[in-house]
Amino acid sequence: MNAHDSEKVVGTLVGQGYSQVETPEDAELVLYNTCSIRDKAEQKVFNRLDRFKRENKGKTFAVLGCVAQQEGEKIFERAPHVSMVCGSASYNQLPQMLVQLEAGNKRVTGLSLDTEDTFETPYTRRDNPHRAYVTIIEGCDKKCAYCVVPFTRGPERSSTSDSVLREAADLARSGYSEIQLLGQNVNSYRDPSPTGWNFAQLLDGVGKVPGIRRVRFTTSHPRDFTKEIIDAIDRNPNLCNHVHLPVQSGSTEVLRGMQRSYSLEEYMLRIQWMKSAARPIAITSDIIVGFPGETEADFEATLALLDEVEYDALFSFKYSRRPNTPALALEDHISEEEKSRRLAILQEHQRAIQIRRNAQYVGVVAECMVEGFNKATGQWMGRTSQHKMVNFLRPSSDEDITGTYLEVRVTRSGPNSLVGEAVQ
Ligand code: SF4
Repeated sequence: MNAHDSEKVVGTLVGQGYSQVETPEDAELVLYNTCSIRDKAEQKVFNRLDRFKRENKGKTFAVLGCVAQQEGEKIFERAPHVSMVCGSASYNQLPQMLVQLEAGNKRVTGLSLDTEDTFETPYTRRDNPHRAYVTIIEGCDKKCAYCVVPFTRGPERSSTSDSVLREAADLARSGYSEIQLLGQNVNSYRDPSPTGWNFAQLLDGVGKVPGIRRVRFTTSHPRDFTKEIIDAIDRNPNLCNHVHLPVQSGSTEVLRGMQRSYSLEEYMLRIQWMKSAARPIAITSDIIVGFPGETEADFEATLALLDEVEYDALFSFKYSRRPNTPALALEDHISEEEKSRRLAILQEHQRAIQIRRNAQYVGVVAECMVEGFNKATGQWMGRTSQHKMVNFLRPSSDEDITGTYLEVRVTRSGPNSLVGEAVQ
């Protein structure tokens, strides 16, 4: 979401006559887009701002994104060289804010969560010429006990189905063949127009846009994840067979403390739907270890869940206390050392699962979208519909095949990627 926000910001500024440069050193205006999902990420922002100041004297600095929204004007106190602070819900105000800066205002803020949305701006300047992000829903109405997002991105607002379909068709005409639908909870999508589509209906619609060969979506919340979504994947070969469904813990007790609003049994029902789909669906997830109250038995339940689901990949983190969140009221009784121990065990456990799962692909021929060429290894890099990275060789040719689709036979596997050769 942040990467795509940056694409919108760059496009908006370029539309105002600014030009983008490659490094902060070359810039007169430095905009720093930030994430506050974990304490570590937030600390990095202030360290980086300090370094920017030392290395880039005389420039104008702006802080964007979730740290901007969360810390607001306090950023001016901690980093007095910053002139502008703007949360993601206010990016459509950026042109006016920049005018104020140019007019000599020393401090400008855009922190309202109540501004009119621009899911995609006419200027969105996408970094990748083949795969495009499309925001379908902003904000979040859930109240997960550990999460800052409802405070930094505001309540849920969906784009109309008509504008999503128009955007997808425009992208196809511009040469994009893959789109990724984005939102904190894409499956909470609710078309605000009289069409009134839910997320599964939107998937059906986007899956039929001529020229769009692959559709991905992220992120899903288990509570709103319906069987209809799997049925839509079954019906539409253009919908990729990969679902990211964050679970966070394998213990219903911990899930209750996290205010995730589903039990382990309810989560497993969704996994069963995916496992009985017509095409084999790759399943990935997020886990937090060391949430307040997590016992050794709860942690063991999470390891057992990994064995049962056999995730294709996992994003795992240690719990950290975040401002404004309900979990602040809970005692963070698990030491950093213990959280690190659990995280290391979890990641090692998952690594063994990925080695087993990826080995099953050896001998398989898979269609890959070519993402680029790695000069260091002399191999092309491609991505399967299941979101597996395949490094592959093809008969030497100077032709740049980035963005095309190729059949690749998998010859070897590792925990995080596959190796193969292009099928002639
Ligand atoms: S669903 Fe929970 S974890 Fe995800 S953005 Fe919303 S509050 Fe945060």
